Amino acid sequence: MESRSCVLITGAANGIGRATARLFALRGCFVGLADIDCAGLTRLVDELGASNTLAMPLDVSKPDQWTAGLADFDYRTGRLDVLVNNAGILISGRLEANPLARHHAVVDVNLKGMLNGCYLAKPYLSATRGARVINLSSVAAVYGQASLATYSATKFAVRGLTEALNIEWQDDGIRVMDIMPMFVQTGMVTALDARIIDRLGARLTAEDVAQTIWAAAMYQGSFGRVHWPVGAMSRWLYRLTRLGPDRLNRFIAKRIAS
Ligand code: NAD
Repeated sequence: MESRSCVLITGAANGIGRATARLFALRGCFVGLADIDCAGLTRLVDELGASNTLAMPLDVSKPDQWTAGLADFDYRTGRLDVLVNNAGILISGRLEANPLARHHAVVDVNLKGMLNGCYLAKPYLSATRGARVINLSSVAAVYGQASLATYSATKFAVRGLTEALNIEWQDDGIRVMDIMPMFVQTGMVTALDARIIDRLGARLTAEDVAQTIWAAAMYQGSFGRVHWPVGAMSRWLYRLTRLGPDRLNRFIAKRIAS
């Protein structure tokens, strides 16, 4: 059995997942790297070292691939301290501008992929003292974002799943939290067709988000701390929508998206 903390990160080959894998490996963790980008996984294993990582070619929307991947990870480590459900995809533009199949794909990866991970990893998390799950939500889960409707809907669902499991699994000692970044400089936001990105820009780096994921992974305070906004704008919007009347929230969301 591994003596180090063992972390499994989905969508690890690029962007936020890759920055998170680098940070956790640098800080002495063993890291499982799950992604559909096999070339990206190979590069990351070469960079971080085969003794510190396990490449897990895995499509999060496929439960059988999760089952096999988790069994491999458990065989190698014997523990699962942190599951970071990070893999995600995005489409932008008006709802009717994208084929319905693409909207379904966003739901399959962003929501069903995360549900698969939580469901199938639960036995491994339960067997590891102090385990936690960290789900990548978004500021798009604070108020529905025009031009990102389906993406936004999946991130609201991630928020709901996180809140519910944080309560359900407290008796098992498993914390479930989500991360809510504003836009981040990764491949995901390149060529994004949404006014909100023109207005607000992508100021955060993947490394900024990785630092917040690390803080959530190390957090020892109350189970009541569930949501982790990243960046001043995200924190401001998150607080505002909790305090402000619906009309004001809608007005602000409309102003920044149109
Ligand atoms: P990215 O596109 O840079 O990386 C996403 C990774 O997920 C890629 O390596 C990709 O190969 C992988 N992936 C895609 N589909 C997969 C699947 N079916 N199975 C396994 N892996 C798959 O994106 P990112 O910006 O690093 O986003 C990571 C997460 O952060 C996502 O959940 C995203 O919604 C969230 N997020 C991103 C931003 C942003 O502005 N970039 C803001 C808020 C939240």
